[in-house]
Amino acid sequence: MKKLRRFAKTIAFVGFVLMVLWGISSCKFGNEPKGQKNGTNSSISSAFGGSTGGGTGGTAPSPAPSKTDYTGKTEYDITAANGRIPRSNKKLAAAQEEVIKKMVSNAAEKIIDFYPLTFKHLKGKGLGIGLVDSDSPGSLEGASVRVNTTSHSHPQSEKYGKAELEMTLNVNTVSLGSHNSKNALASTISHEIMHAMMFESLTAGMLGRGADLEGRPMIFPFWFIEGTAVIVGGGKKFVNRILYSAPSIDRENGGTNFPTNQELRITDSELTEDYVKKALTVFRLKAGRLSNIHDDKTTIAVYGVGYLACAYLGQLIENNGTPNYVIDVTKIRRGLDLFMAEIAKGYSMDDAIKRLTRGKYENTDKFEDESLDDLAKYSYKFIQEIKHGFGSTLTDLGSNDMATVVNQNMPAQPSMLLNPDYTRMKNSYSPWTVVFKGGGEKVRGYAFNGQYPKGAQPPYPPLLRDILLKPAETE
Ligand SMILES: [Zn+2]
Repeated sequence: MKKLRRFAKTIAFVGFVLMVLWGISSCKFGNEPKGQKNGTNSSISSAFGGSTGGGTGGTAPSPAPSKTDYTGKTEYDITAANGRIPRSNKKLAAAQEEVIKKMVSNAAEKIIDFYPLTFKHLKGKGLGIGLVDSDSPGSLEGASVRVNTTSHSHPQSEKYGKAELEMTLNVNTVSLGSHNSKNALASTISHEIMHAMMFESLTAGMLGRGADLEGRPMIFPFWFIEGTAVIVGGGKKFVNRILYSAPSIDRENGGTNFPTNQELRITDSELTEDYVKKALTVFRLKAGRLSNIHDDKTTIAVYGVGYLACAYLGQLIENNGTPNYVIDVTKIRRGLDLFMAEIAKGYSMDDAIKRLTRGKYENTDKFEDESLDDLAKYSYKFIQEIKHGFGSTLTDLGSNDMATVVNQNMPAQPSMLLNPDYTRMKNSYSPWTVVFKGGGEKVRGYAFNGQYPKGAQPPYPPLLRDILLKPAETE
């Protein structure tokens, strides 16, 4: 209890980084808490409203504000303020900053237009994001997004129940060099902004915290976290990697799927559905769950197969669980929007897969295990659509002009606003706003009106508050 009491007094903090690299990609976490030995280690517990539960220990808490402050709300206000760290040693020219700023805001508008059920509450809200630029010629990293979440859980604090979401966009200035076109930058920034917006809208599953009390994963599989971003930024390069790496990686692992040494790419006329299926057998979707392995095989499964799987899942959902092989970008968007919105309502990812595929897949595991045949067939058709473009759902998939989509004038009332003068922008929410909403992979959470999803039967899943406090109770 002593430990918990200290815990309740701290300002909670969770940090997280997602990035996209050029060429081969990988993904890294930043500041993910390991264990809870340090009192400043985090919980996003209090943001879920209610008392601090066991967290107050022997301290007599002052009355908590009424939970009804948020109940029934269908939207909330966000106050973006300067982050804590002014940006020093600026290397970017003002014109470059302007381009990045426009791309951030226009990518956000497009994402809201195409995924309205999930993101329309952000329309015109000016969600703030800061900028860090690094100059790393030796790094393949093109850009990354970092998010820090804080919540104040001290009962005596006047900020009691208040939550903040801090965001940073990191751009490797090497990616602004002449060898990289504005299209590539537009693609990368769109990818990162999708991450940023999902951090806001599907916070519980995006941040996760390992597992709940019963060991069920909270965080989404990485193929979903990256696949949904690649869907937005475009994934042709990742699909190419699946195809031409499959024979060599198969051989390295003792496989005999590819008797000849022919390594095919998207545009090769010899490419067949059979080849695609064999490649997807080498890079199984399930291998893309992990975030902590950065070998080629895992990375390709996360980004490349994740991308194909998200496209397939979106169109499957839009078609009520019956596979449909006539690739249609509007259906992919609508299906994925339905899926993400279901999770934002507090359903688990497992619930959402089962409900929206009409039971075709019982849960996430089954989707990974049983989708190979349909996914290969769908992917072969999908590849024909992305042959000549970036493969972005912000376009018709086949367009290679990403810059036109996002390099436009600033929207009059931006939904997301980059402030290049600060490394972080701090977005503050009213007390008791349920910011850290949505479900995890196997765990239900809250909608942002503070309620469990409809149809959740007793016994209710454990409060996310309790799940997230769990690490503090173990040593
Ligand atoms: Zn990413």
